[in-house]
Amino acid sequence: MDPKNTQLRIFFFPFMAQGHTIPAIDMAKLFASRGADVAIITTPLNAPLIAKSINKFDRPGRKIELLIIDFPSVAVGLPDGCESLDLARSPEMFQSFFRATTLLEPQIDQILDHHRPHCLVADTFFPWTTDLAAKYGIPRVVFHGTCFFALCAAASLIANRPYKKVSSDLEPFVIPGLPDEIKLTRSQVPGFLKEEVETDFIKLYWASKEVESRCYGFLINSFYELEPAYADYYRNVLGRRAWHIGPLSLYSNVEEDNVQRGSSSSISEDQCLKWLDSKNPDSVLYVSFGSLASLTNSQLLEIAKGLEGTGQNFIWVVKKAKGDQEEWLPEGFEKRVEGKGLIIRGWAPQVLILDHRSIGGFVTHCGWNSALEGVTAGVPMVTWPNSAEQFYNEKLITDVLQIGVGVGALYWGRAGKDEIKSEAIEKAVNRVMVGEEAEEMRSRAKALGIQARKAIVEGGSSSSDLNAFFKDLRSQI
Ligand code: UDP
Repeated sequence: MDPKNTQLRIFFFPFMAQGHTIPAIDMAKLFASRGADVAIITTPLNAPLIAKSINKFDRPGRKIELLIIDFPSVAVGLPDGCESLDLARSPEMFQSFFRATTLLEPQIDQILDHHRPHCLVADTFFPWTTDLAAKYGIPRVVFHGTCFFALCAAASLIANRPYKKVSSDLEPFVIPGLPDEIKLTRSQVPGFLKEEVETDFIKLYWASKEVESRCYGFLINSFYELEPAYADYYRNVLGRRAWHIGPLSLYSNVEEDNVQRGSSSSISEDQCLKWLDSKNPDSVLYVSFGSLASLTNSQLLEIAKGLEGTGQNFIWVVKKAKGDQEEWLPEGFEKRVEGKGLIIRGWAPQVLILDHRSIGGFVTHCGWNSALEGVTAGVPMVTWPNSAEQFYNEKLITDVLQIGVGVGALYWGRAGKDEIKSEAIEKAVNRVMVGEEAEEMRSRAKALGIQARKAIVEGGSSSSDLNAFFKDLRSQI
């Protein structure tokens, strides 16, 4: 059969954490809507959540299949059902969780042998899938879940180790070789780059770097106009074959999917929209730290004081259940901010909120999905990174794109050192919400939001790169 007419069969194998699964579901929908036959490989606990967000998508000629594998939580000493990274609540559980993923190989082997897809899109944290897929002649494509900028910054730090040449943790250094002069401090460099000890996670991280040159290529959740110099650098200087196909959040913008992204929302769509509709354009601050970060009670108290001090409207997402003892809230807080501030305890419909016209600013931990969702919504940001590659993402937002200001986070992994005081929070929030500087950032952010939407329609940069990806895959058949 002519490869041009063969229906592409593409399997996705996302890492079991919301920040990885959510964009993988969006990709699966995108590929299926372009006519590919798509399956997502996942575990029993994650399957119902994924099913919920793909059910509405199913219609004749457009189906996403779920293939279920067991997750060996008990084999590594985790409680039964601990199948998502947010449930691994201690450093030991975190390491065991990554160890468990390395035991999945025989099940993936069986799936590939049985189904023989044309391509396996597997998360960066499954480095062993590269050689496994190669055994069956299947191209393995990597999904990192981050942007070109962060990948370039990490590559430079790994190659040059500039943080070894400074005399203190807080002395700034320039990340060598990047298109812009980007400064970091050693305290902001990810711990896993600096550590000498080999934890399960660190082993996996270096294994994922080691296999990169043997992978078929990289799918990137970004769009060219957002970071052209870094997209070019990644391809031309680092020599990686990559296709940018984002912002992926725009593809789930159908029917109820923005409410059902990830976990079930703790607030109804009606209640949320009613609240937002009652506010003026650009007058509400949205505050969220993603799906994994957990903040101490004393840090939450500082945030509460800071928010109240700004006098701005806000929606604040806190990963806490409603309880009698809310030591993280100042006495009488909710009463005082009634009508002005809404606390969502649990899971928020983030994209639905960010895209509402009354949202005027976003306090974010700079997880890439959140950062890009903020860009797509056209809102200026207060950046408050904590872990993973979030400190690089902060620099993209504040220094390169100039659509945000840092709250002053200095320590990767926080390590109990980085409590940000209410005054600093208040100051950063006011800078993105009111005044000339805020208006300038907002207009740059809105312009990027418009470009993001253009990128995914026919003829746009992401749409064209997706076509190129399909064409490249077909040339492999
Ligand atoms: N998210 C959400 N509601 C929440 C928290 C997070 O919808 O209450 C979504 C958010 O929109 C994003 C993802 O979960 O798509 C989090 O990914 P990100 O990369 O921002 O951060 P991570 O959780 O991986 O640290």
